[in-house]
Parts: sequence; C-alpha cells; structure tokens
Amino acid sequence: MLLIQDLAQLVTHKGTAAAGGETQDQLTVLEGRSILIKGEKIAAIGTTETLLKRHPEAKRAPKIQGKKLIALPGLVDPHTHLPWMGNRRQEFNLRLRGVTYVDIAKKGGGILNTLQAVREATPKALTRATVDRALSCLQYGVTTVEAKSGYGLSLKDEIKQLEAIRDAQAEVPLRLVPTLLAAHELPPEYRTDRRAFIDLIVRSIIPEVSSRKLAAFCDVFCEKGFFSPEEAFRILQAAGRHGLKPRLHADEFVSSGAAEVAGHLRALSADHLNFPSDAGLRAMAKAGTVAVLLPGASMFLLHRHHPNVSDLRKHGIPMAIGTDANPGSSPTTNLLLVMRLGSFLYGMSAEAAITAVTLNAAASLNLAGETGTLETGKLADLSLWAVPHYLDLFYHYGDNPLAYTICRGKVAFQKR
Ligand SMILES: [Zn+2]
Repeated sequence: MLLIQDLAQLVTHKGTAAAGGETQDQLTVLEGRSILIKGEKIAAIGTTETLLKRHPEAKRAPKIQGKKLIALPGLVDPHTHLPWMGNRRQEFNLRLRGVTYVDIAKKGGGILNTLQAVREATPKALTRATVDRALSCLQYGVTTVEAKSGYGLSLKDEIKQLEAIRDAQAEVPLRLVPTLLAAHELPPEYRTDRRAFIDLIVRSIIPEVSSRKLAAFCDVFCEKGFFSPEEAFRILQAAGRHGLKPRLHADEFVSSGAAEVAGHLRALSADHLNFPSDAGLRAMAKAGTVAVLLPGASMFLLHRHHPNVSDLRKHGIPMAIGTDANPGSSPTTNLLLVMRLGSFLYGMSAEAAITAVTLNAAASLNLAGETGTLETGKLADLSLWAVPHYLDLFYHYGDNPLAYTICRGKVAFQKR
C-alpha cells in the first residue's frame, strides 16, 4: 500500500483509447487529490478525507506528501532502439559540416556501424547496456519503454538483441515492450540480393522470434532506399500470421507510401511521418493508427521539415511522442526533453504533448487498458514532479523536476 497525499495537481487524460483531434488537448486537472495504491494498482483517487473514510486501512500505509508535487501518469516511450553497442559521436559533427544521413550511410557509417558493434558484443555486454539505458529512463518519469532489435540483421543477432531485452526486463522495474525490426537495413552480406534477405526475415526470423515469444511487434523501415511499401507489406503480413502486430518507420526522409501501408495493415503506429501523403493520413485515420512523432531525431538530424501537427489534428489522428533512442539519430532516453521538443519544435500544445507521452503512447503499444492514465483500476504507474503547475514542465524547459517514478505501485526512482 502507498498513499500519495494532497497533490498540488493530478494531471491525466481519461479512458483506454487513444485521443485524437481536439480531445488530445483536453486533460483532467484536479487539485488537492490523493492517490491510494494497493498492490500494483490504483485503488482510489479522492481527497484524503474521503479516501481515509472509505479505506481506513490506508491510515497505516506509507505516505508521500504531495503538497509540492504534481502527479502525471508514468511516461511511456513508444519508440526506442535500446539494445545497441558502440557510439557514433563523429556523425553528428559531420552532419553539422553538411554531410547528409544518407551519404553517411552510403559510406558505411550509420546503421551498419552499429551493426558491427552489436554483432561483436557478447550477450552479457548487450544486456548490460540495455539495462543501463532502461534504468536511465526512470529519472525522466518513464515507466514503459518499447525497445527494438534491428542492429543484428541475421537470425542469430536479431535474437541476441531480443534476448538482451528479455534478460534486461528481469533486472529493471519499468516495463520493456520488445519489437522485431529485422527490416531496418540490408546487411552487407545481402547487399546484392535483397530478395534473399526478405526471404530470411519472412521464413526464418519471424517464425523463430514468434515461436520463442521474443517480440510483441514487428516493425519495418519503410523508406526510399531502405524497404519499399511492397516489401513492408510482405514482411508485416507474414509477421501478422505469426501474431506479431505491425508498426512502421514511415516517411521520415521523403514521401515513400509508408503511411498508406500503415493504414492498410491497420498498424498500431506509424512513426516519424515528416512526409506522409494525404492519402496516407486518410488511411491512418480510418485505421485508428497512432502517429508516433520523434522530434529528438528531427533536432539531432537538423531536419528543417517537420510533421504537420495541424494536419494530423485535422484528420483526428492521435499523436504520440517517443525518444527514438538510438546511437545515430537520437542518442538520449530523456523523454521529458523530447516531449518539450514536441511542443517547441513541432508546435504541439502542452496538453497534447502530455497526452502524447502518456495515453497515446500506451495506446500505440496496445497497453492503454493498463497504463497511460491515472484512473482507479489501472496499474499504479506514476511520475511525480516538484512543480506547482504542469505548464512548468515546459516553461522551465531546461530543468528536470522529477521527484519520484513509481512502477506498478513501487517507488522505482526517487530524486535525492
Ligand atoms: Zn527508430
């Protein structure tokens, strides 16, 4: 049991479905409320007086004084590439000198650079790196993190990455949600035979990953120069037959027809979306696909062209925000910072950005029934912040006022 008493504000969306259009801007803000946690779940929300009347046993519960704190749902990071090795610290400086991401990839940098480091790593070292990064998420109030493979690009090494996520889960209090991203890039040994690599994904990697229950989702980097819409269809349909739900890296650099694929396959998410077509947005809206926006990557890659937030709103497409934590285009697990970039780079309201890292991010992972809002019956995944008002999370854009991260009813991180 845990009682969080007399919060300055309790800030949350409501419900179990992603919020699009104007509803994304509508938060519930309550003052002077307390939250009673029993076991892993939120047992009750109300004033301290009514809670203690209805739950007298709560008098004996450990307490957190909330008068100088606000409570948000635990943040959900719906897009990371957590199990990586090595670093690519030289690349951003090349970009600042005018070399493009695609040119860096052609010269053997980019994803292939990380591929080598991951293939050479021992399973233990890869798990350690994944644990360390997952733990670092806690200091930003994050309680759920999606994590992708995609730097192995062989049966053995994709499995090694997914096993690192599985083994890391045993050591961290927050929830890790694994995604297979074998179609991230062509590995060097299949450079001249892309069809054979896609056959490998469809006939070997997907069935093996599925039978060993190592992933919940399958992702494809659907982009000109990477994987075509037709290839994405083939891979994601095969994944679907094996129980892996589809999500996509979509239209990051150019309009590639990826948003259309996401809509037609009823993908849970289409991510990046700097250049979706109008037909693609209509297909996504019809399918209820969440747009996972990654403003950290926009900033780090010096992109001038951003997703059109007002277009997404107009189509009623729910927006989520993720860090895209990866060594090349967004080497950070700081979802607090990236949420702010959603506002200051893309023009999302503070309310829409908060919804994007809570309810909508949870919905994009099929977890909105369990987490992403502060409501009775949901998991007690909470973030507590030492500010008087939720707008201060954006207004003081350089501060990290996190006080507590609570995962499933247990204090997982406390700022000293
Ligand atoms: Zn990504």
